[in-house]
Amino acid sequence: MRDRVPTRPVFVGDDRVGVVAIGGGIRGDHPLSKGLSAEALGMDPAPVSVQTMTAGYTHEIDKCVAEIHKLTAAGADIVRVAVPEKKDTEALKEILAQTTVPIVADVHFHFKRALEAVEAGVHKIRLNPGNINDRAQVEAVIDACKDKQIPIRVGVNEGSIIERKDKQARAKELGAFFSDQKHGYLLAIMIAKLEEYLDIFYERDFYDITISAKSMSAPIVIDAYTEISKRFAHPLHLGVTHAGPKETGAIRSIAALSSLMANGVGDTLRISYANDPIYEVEDGLELLYSMDLRERKGAELIACPTCGRIQVDLFTLTQEVHAKLEAEIELPIKVAVMGCVVNGPGEAEGADVAVFAGDRKGIIYVQGEKVATVGEEEILDRLLDECKAFQERVRSGEVKLGEKKVDIVPPDPEGELGSGWEKMAAQRMGHTALTIEGSDAGS
Ligand code: SF4
Repeated sequence: MRDRVPTRPVFVGDDRVGVVAIGGGIRGDHPLSKGLSAEALGMDPAPVSVQTMTAGYTHEIDKCVAEIHKLTAAGADIVRVAVPEKKDTEALKEILAQTTVPIVADVHFHFKRALEAVEAGVHKIRLNPGNINDRAQVEAVIDACKDKQIPIRVGVNEGSIIERKDKQARAKELGAFFSDQKHGYLLAIMIAKLEEYLDIFYERDFYDITISAKSMSAPIVIDAYTEISKRFAHPLHLGVTHAGPKETGAIRSIAALSSLMANGVGDTLRISYANDPIYEVEDGLELLYSMDLRERKGAELIACPTCGRIQVDLFTLTQEVHAKLEAEIELPIKVAVMGCVVNGPGEAEGADVAVFAGDRKGIIYVQGEKVATVGEEEILDRLLDECKAFQERVRSGEVKLGEKKVDIVPPDPEGELGSGWEKMAAQRMGHTALTIEGSDAGS
């Protein structure tokens, strides 16, 4: 993992809902440092934030508020709402009063919607200058945001970057878009248009900008954001647009976003699915946890993929453990559910609480100490009880998370769990202790 690329931070929110910082890391000698406070100049890049967008109509105030609450509870740091019509911006004031997370107004085509949203008190505007009729209108939005100290996300996303007004230019751009050189062409036009747009902002002395350059192609997303990060020190809002259903959209998004973030590129993200946006929040957070870019909230579950050694219904058990941990455990306890003792102990290394299943049984360990052997039907309840008890011990200061390296002595292969070739191998070697270190069986 590379260090985060330094950017000029922007701040989204207010005293009431809290302020989410996006980006950071540039110092006072940077050309984009103008107007930043000493505190903003001294800060390291803020943790990568997770954004999502409501799926319902913004003008249906009660439903919109309920959806924002649901997304906030799931962990969204920032929520965006679409404001295509005046009735949507008219609803904003009430929505803002009832919600507890920074709200971004998503504006396309109608610059007046942006002005109305700013007036209503939104915390950020999302705008593709290419979709606004003329430069004076874009300038009016910039001035309004500057006046209220609201940042703007400038989008040069694939879906909206092709020229719309000038028919000749549009035909030319579309021709190149559908040519064999689509990849290079898109990159070139994204950078060129971004430079053109940013000039409008800079001329008005406006620098509180984030940038997005989304595409439905993961390779284009990787190349576009990489190139932009080298040229512009504004925080980057990562995303794969039109990623599709959750099942395939997750792979498409993670392929692009994890590659970028491993190289220090990206300050906030939205994973887009054709599904309930709650999944966008859950998967965005899990991606950041997996990459150690955010401190995990709630338990972390690791589980083996199972193989021919399995002797309990581990798929069901894992699903049930996952649901129970989400509902009942708040601390980032690492929990392992392993199908057997072959690779289980090695792979569960670092788990605070672990179960190793065997012949319709499970052996439960807490920080390396065996605490119980129970029948299959009791594994779920006992494992959860141990997790809860462990959580209380952490809270009381008696133990620390991850304090003891798991050093599990595998069960005697001739005893409670042993079976198969391990037992035979152990007997051949003239001892009963099962050596698992270095075993490459299964997962
Ligand atoms: S060998 Fe690995 S994958 Fe197979 S049951 Fe054991 S822990 Fe699970």
